[in-house]
Amino acid sequence: MDERKTMTDPDCLFCKIVNCDIPSEKVYEDASVYAFRDINPKAKVHVLVVPREHYRNVDELARADAQLLAHIVEVAQRIADQEYDGSYRLVFNTGEKAGQTVFHVHAHVLTGEPLDE
Ligand code: IMP
Repeated sequence: MDERKTMTDPDCLFCKIVNCDIPSEKVYEDASVYAFRDINPKAKVHVLVVPREHYRNVDELARADAQLLAHIVEVAQRIADQEYDGSYRLVFNTGEKAGQTVFHVHAHVLTGEPLDE
């Protein structure tokens, strides 16, 4: 069995959110991902989509499970379809200097209104 399938980090904020140890405003969930509203929204709709498994960043996820990364993109589209007109911006901050503050990979889905360039 792949050890990663059960891997969570007990100190990780988003692992705690996925496991409902910390409350969140859920938008979508399935067997492999969980999506919830960002606590400090940067657009009218700002949702974070995270895999249930703990990967530090999008590069680690892409190397380990490209299908799961593709699924995160599908879920982003679904959220943009549900909450707006299907348009959205998808951001993966990767590394401290790029602004990553939580080291459990997450897609920022920004939508709900026209966005500045
Ligand atoms: P990063 O800076 O790309 O790592 O994004 C982390 C995001 O998590 C930021 O946009 C934060 O506003 C968001 N965030 C931090 N804590 C919480 C929380 O408890 N609930 C929802 N969003 C959070």
